[in-house]
Amino acid sequence: MPKKIFFVLLILLPFISIAQNNTGIPIPMKKRIVFYDKSFPVEGGFIKHEFLIAATKWFKNAFPGNAEPFHIGASGDINGTGIFKINTGPTGDYYDLRFKLEIVSNDTGYTIRAYNFYENSNIKGKSHEYSKIEYRWWDYRQGKPWSVEDKALFMGLDADMTAMFKSFGNDPSIIKSARRMHTPKFKVLAFFSTNVEEDHVDFAYDAIKFYKKMADQKGFAFDTTSNWENLNDANLEKYKEVIWLNEFPHNEAERRSFEKFMDGGGSWLGFHVSGYNDKDTKWPWFVKFMGGAVFYNNNWPPLPAKMIVDDNKHSVTKHLPKTYTAPINEWYGWKPNPRLNKDVKVLVTLDPSNYPLGKKDVITGGDIPVVWTNTKYKMVYMNMGHGDMNFESPLQNKMFEDAVLWLGK
Ligand code: ZN
Repeated sequence: MPKKIFFVLLILLPFISIAQNNTGIPIPMKKRIVFYDKSFPVEGGFIKHEFLIAATKWFKNAFPGNAEPFHIGASGDINGTGIFKINTGPTGDYYDLRFKLEIVSNDTGYTIRAYNFYENSNIKGKSHEYSKIEYRWWDYRQGKPWSVEDKALFMGLDADMTAMFKSFGNDPSIIKSARRMHTPKFKVLAFFSTNVEEDHVDFAYDAIKFYKKMADQKGFAFDTTSNWENLNDANLEKYKEVIWLNEFPHNEAERRSFEKFMDGGGSWLGFHVSGYNDKDTKWPWFVKFMGGAVFYNNNWPPLPAKMIVDDNKHSVTKHLPKTYTAPINEWYGWKPNPRLNKDVKVLVTLDPSNYPLGKKDVITGGDIPVVWTNTKYKMVYMNMGHGDMNFESPLQNKMFEDAVLWLGK
């Protein structure tokens, strides 16, 4: 590695604290040990999944002879051991320098840290055991000048750390994972309420967890709000897609803003009770938007149910088989049936073999669409959304994912 470049860069590095010494080498220390760290801020979100893959690759390339394999910890951090070889003499004398290396990411960026440095001399006539690098400060801390060898060791350490940060910060795939964070593919805003039926609140929290993780992995922005006043023109302008997890707007201003959003090319995913409407909801536009579907009946208690997938080619249902069993949910029947609307494309239907479905409230028959889209809009309604079991089916989860991706396009 060309040492010249590293020394030029030294002055640019923002060290946390600098232990000056008579060699003029600034060695950063924290809690009395040599401690290097550098943070790389990232604005506007973070694709941690991609970042971890990129950082792991970088780690493998940077330390191919890693004595201990690094690993990704439970918190998603990368831990491992780095080793540098540092030449300290003109005749090929060198030290192995071993240290703990951590790569940590959070919502605002990522940080790389190196500490617990140990050195091992390969010089004839000296012990070949690892010992703490801080012991090499001993003479210096006692006010004695640094030996030529120690000076070379610390200069090498500092140059290699500088090179390491530079290599990490310039890694193309790490930069790429950061750049994609700046420009999410699309932005989603999920509305939910906490003062509604408990099972509907449970669903909202499960869904938020599910979609936040997915947003991280797929590179879109996923914001949530329980303040329905955020359903206004100025705010909706920032989003491509709106989700209603467990509620619908009750006041006129919010309803008008939503209509404008949808008419202007916005997209919508509604779950369960968010599509509920009856004679008391008094929102004719929304009934049309739902393809004419008005709530008719339901089963109670919530139960799992067999589904028929009407269309395996549609982007929302392309990963589903012809039939599957959906986890426990409260299922709604509709009158009029949205299938009667020529603009409606039904994607999933309640299998009639489920009937009679229920105990207290029993659905005894009928053609009951469960997932559909009104092709006049970019919208999908899914009847799932009651209770804490809805995300227990990997198959169905795929549909939950595919819907958000399709609507985000
Ligand atoms: Zn419900």
